[in-house]
Amino acid sequence: MSNGLIISISGPSGVGKGTIIAKLREMIPDFGQSISVTSRDPRGQEKDGVEYYFRSKEEFEKLIAEGEIIEYDVYVGNYYGTPLSPLLTMSGKGQDVLLDLTVAGSLALKEKFEETVTIFLLPPSLKELRSRLIGRGTESEELVDKRMAQAKKEIENAPEFDYVVTNDTVEQAAGEIAAIVAAEHARFVRRSKEVDSLLSE
Ligand code: 5GP
Repeated sequence: MSNGLIISISGPSGVGKGTIIAKLREMIPDFGQSISVTSRDPRGQEKDGVEYYFRSKEEFEKLIAEGEIIEYDVYVGNYYGTPLSPLLTMSGKGQDVLLDLTVAGSLALKEKFEETVTIFLLPPSLKELRSRLIGRGTESEELVDKRMAQAKKEIENAPEFDYVVTNDTVEQAAGEIAAIVAAEHARFVRRSKEVDSLLSE
């Protein structure tokens, strides 16, 4: 049996990554879920070990030093990182794992595991991204401008990714990602054993 795919999805803030990932999980319930470690405080009903492992900055730095974190990034002043062993266990069992990472996080993971499938989510236009950010209603105009500048910087990294998917609608974007996953499974390198076994029948 071949290893499960490690699929990492990134995109600028406001692109709708969370909604698309939720839709994908609904479409493909077998995806493994990696629980990240973060130094941010839990929000609302969030529980340790469910949405995240909530750790102090010092504890997080200790995990990095111990080699327990395969990639990490600092986002709005807090650490976020992917624990190594659960990722290897799920993938080793042949389970595909879907990760929701910052742009830098996806690129760092690809450096470590070249086989990671990286997907960049694009907004249909910058105008649309701005109106989605404004539509959240939680951010001042100044913060929206800051996020837009940050988004442009992140989009400059799109050429480093394997795939680019535009979020026109949730259904279409999730459908395209599901198609990418299916195509990745059909790559010859992943099916060579099947071919060999047919030939030796
Ligand atoms: P939030 O604080 O809203 O839950 O997440 C903030 C950002 O952190 C999201 O954009 C998410 O993609 C990113 N993130 C969550 N877990 C990880 C992780 O393990 N590594 C990296 N690099 N980013 C993460």
